[in-house]
Amino acid sequence: MRSSIEIRRLVDRRIKALHLGEDFDAWRFIQAYSRAKGIKTKLSPIVVPAEAPDFFGAYVRMGEQSIIAFRVNTSWLHQNRILAHEGGHLLLHEPLQGEVLMRGMSRAAQEEREAEVFASYLLERMASGALVLEPVRRPRVANISYTLEEFFASLRGKGEG
Ligand SMILES: [Zn+2]
Repeated sequence: MRSSIEIRRLVDRRIKALHLGEDFDAWRFIQAYSRAKGIKTKLSPIVVPAEAPDFFGAYVRMGEQSIIAFRVNTSWLHQNRILAHEGGHLLLHEPLQGEVLMRGMSRAAQEEREAEVFASYLLERMASGALVLEPVRRPRVANISYTLEEFFASLRGKGEG
């Protein structure tokens, strides 16, 4: 279990090591971190259906490939917050494997709390720059209409490679 102070120090160290300055958003942070670690991280924007109103995001890893699913039918500020939270899992926690996620297992409350603390500090650090940035450089959201089922089906197909 990490203290809030440890998580804050980790955020500060990473921002410095990745040379992010102040002009970054959560996705840029995640991209820079992934590149440094040799992980290929993709975003999977999801339009969350009305039946699953509590789904905001998920981080799944398969080998060197990882996917961060995040809800796009919400404000861009919220999207940035979701990405910051999933970025916290990426840095702090063992990845959920695709099949585990499909069985509906969720993370321990402790890990969720750490990811929230991480997101808060990351957003605090990006606050001065982020307001003038483009909204999260929306990754081709235009014709995305994934459902959760399609997302999980797409994970099944991405097991190797
Ligand atoms: Zn979480």
